[in-house]
This record gives sequence, structure tokens and C-alpha cells, in this order.
Amino acid sequence: MLNDKVAIVTGAASGIGRAIALSYAGAGARVVVSDTDTAGGEETVALVRRAGGDAIFAAADVSVPGDCSGLVERTVGAYGRLDIACNNAGIGGELAPTADYPLDAWNRVIAVNLSGVFHCMRSQIRAMLKGGGGAIVNMASILGTVGFANAPAYTAAKHGVLGLTKAAAQEYAAQGIRINAVGPAFIHTPMIERLESDPAALAALVAMHPIGRLGRPEEVAALVTWLSSPAASFATGAYYPIDGGYLAR
Ligand code: NAP
Repeated sequence: MLNDKVAIVTGAASGIGRAIALSYAGAGARVVVSDTDTAGGEETVALVRRAGGDAIFAAADVSVPGDCSGLVERTVGAYGRLDIACNNAGIGGELAPTADYPLDAWNRVIAVNLSGVFHCMRSQIRAMLKGGGGAIVNMASILGTVGFANAPAYTAAKHGVLGLTKAAAQEYAAQGIRINAVGPAFIHTPMIERLESDPAALAALVAMHPIGRLGRPEEVAALVTWLSSPAASFATGAYYPIDGGYLAR
């Protein structure tokens, strides 16, 4: 499905990003695994190679514009082009009501979860224009369309990712670049370990999903891989929840 394609995945040392890197490689793409966590990133590369795929690691902090342009340069240097990017890196941030939300936590969540997607897309789009097109998938969340108490920065950043996705998709659709966003509900990853460690909190979380369980990273990766592939050739500027029925309540 992705044979001969070159893909970047940010935040690919862990959780959903690792599953996306494995899924892309399994579909035939050459994958640049990127993260601030070098050990975890190298582990993802090893997993891809063990499964018979092709991947390299490139460190980048998505909140640093120069890291994002450097990541795209490294990709084009290694593989000659860029066809696919999944802007997945993100952090949960503090949990606190808006009036008490620490300013530094607000700034960090917006810098990574929203500005990080912007910095990455700027360089990715330039490279894709040179290559004649491409596909970008931005990792939003169910909290890109609904609110979650005590997560004002995260909720605002993910709503922003949807807006950015829609604006950019219109700008580049005619030049062959498709840009979409996906919105997972709660997925078993290190990000939500804090919430999962309290049995009562975990039960309350599960109850928000009519399907009766949290999601698995592979289930999100399957959607991202489809959106990144030629099979999704008419899909652009849209938001795709993958949420066990969370938004249907
Ligand atoms: P995760 O397991 O914590 O993985 C996120 C990865 O991103 C980590 O390896 C993390 O490194 C890395 N990262 C953090 N800040 C970064 C930065 N500035 N630059 C580059 N990499 C950075 O989380 P996940 O659950 O897989 O989340 C992946 C994405 O899915 C996020 O955008 C998240 O908001 C979104 N999402 C998750 C859920 C969920 O329930 N898990 C639901 C909806 C959406 P460190 O570990 O070193 O910080």
C-alpha cells in the first residue's frame, strides 16, 4: 500500500507513534522515526527492522522550529524525498482547572501539541511540493472537538490542530498534498498511565467508551496508514475520530 514511499513519524519512540511507524513500514514505506527520546526511538527502529522493514532514527524536538526543518532535511538526505508525515508527538500536560492552570505548563503544551505541528508541516509541505504531492496526518484527539475538564491547554491545542489541518488542506489540495487529522479517544499508552493507575479513574474512563474498553495503538495506526495511502485519495481537510463510540454519547 505504501511501497516506495518515504514517511516521517514524530513521537515515534512510544505508544501510538511507534505503532504508526511499524504499520507504515509493514505497508512498505521507508520510515524516519523521530522523537526526543533517542533510546525509545532506536528501539522502534530495531522493531521495524526485525519485522523486515526499513527505518532510521532522527532526533527532533517538535517545539523547536530548527529541529523540524532539520528532520525534513535529514529525511530527504537519507531517502531522497518525503511523501508521508504523521505529526504525532504530543504531551498530556498538567491536570488543573483553567484559573489554576500553571502558565509554564500552558506554554509547553501549546508549544509541543500545536506549534509543533505547525513547525513540522511548514517544512514537510515545502519538501512535498518539490516531490509533486504527499499526505500529512496530524494527531488530534477526541478533545479536538469536545472539552475535558482540567485539561484546558490540551483541549485548546487539539482544537487548534483541527483548525490548522483544515486551513492547510485547502491551501495545498490542488497541488496534490492531502492533510487530515485523526481523533483517538483514550488509548493504552504511557501517556495515560497516570489516569489508568487509579482503578476508580480507569473504570470511569472506560465507561466513557460505549465499546467497553480503551483503544489500542494499533487501532489508531491502521486508520493513519489508510489516510496516508493512495486508497484515501479523495480524503482531505477532514477529521477522523477513532473512539470506541466516545463522541456518539
Ligand atoms: P506517548 O506514549 O507519551 O508518546 C509520545 C511520544 O512523543 C513520546 O515518545 C514522547 O517522548 C514524545 N515527545 C514528547 N514531546 C516531544 C517533543 N517536543 N518532540 C518530539 N517528541 C516528543 O503518548 P501517546 O499516547 O502515544 O500519544 C501520541 C499522540 O496521540 C499525542 O499527540 C497524543 O496527544 C495523542 N493522543 C493520545 C491519546 C491517548 O489516550 N493515549 C488519545 C488521543 C490523542 P517522552 O516520552 O520522552 O516525552
